[in-house]
Amino acid sequence: MNPVMTRHLDVYAPDRRRPYALDTRALGRRPGTMWEGTLRLPAPAGLGRDLVRVPESAELQLDLRLETVLDGVLATVVVTAATTGECARCLDEVGGTLSVDIVELFSYPEQADRYARTSGEQNDEEVRHLDGDLLDLEQSIRDAVVLALPASPLCRPDCAGLCSRCGEHLDEVGPEHTHDEHDPRWGVLRGLVGED
Ligand SMILES: [Zn+2]
Ligand SMILES: [Zn+2]
Repeated sequence: MNPVMTRHLDVYAPDRRRPYALDTRALGRRPGTMWEGTLRLPAPAGLGRDLVRVPESAELQLDLRLETVLDGVLATVVVTAATTGECARCLDEVGGTLSVDIVELFSYPEQADRYARTSGEQNDEEVRHLDGDLLDLEQSIRDAVVLALPASPLCRPDCAGLCSRCGEHLDEVGPEHTHDEHDPRWGVLRGLVGED
């Protein structure tokens, strides 16, 4: 059976405390109902890693498909956002665009009880559940975005980084860049030692 394409359903129920929660009531619970649409929402705080992130309130584009299946609602999401960060070697600003796919089943609340009974509690946290009729994407978005961002972003794959002595960009000062290893202060000390 082909999924029924349901149009003009308002699945987005803005809630300041749960800005990424979708209201699935419009889909009903019969398997085979589908909703597709695009939402543009401000990014939450703390979305990213130490060196690279989606800035808070920057636009997160969510290309969404929600589909009712037997056990719940299957969410297929493509998250697109601009990222900013610092090069792990030279600390220059690094910009980019992130696009990450999420495919996740949010099971109906009744299924949570069934999973808990049949598979024990250890597996339960790996399954996401609807909260009543709400499908909250925030944790899925956070997990997927953090996983997709590089732990060590680079401004260029061959960035040479900074000089450990003076902090200059090694790419700018060139390969000849060196420091006189003969620190004049040692000269003074040597002189003193020599005079003894
Ligand atoms: Zn760099
Ligand atoms: Zn230097």
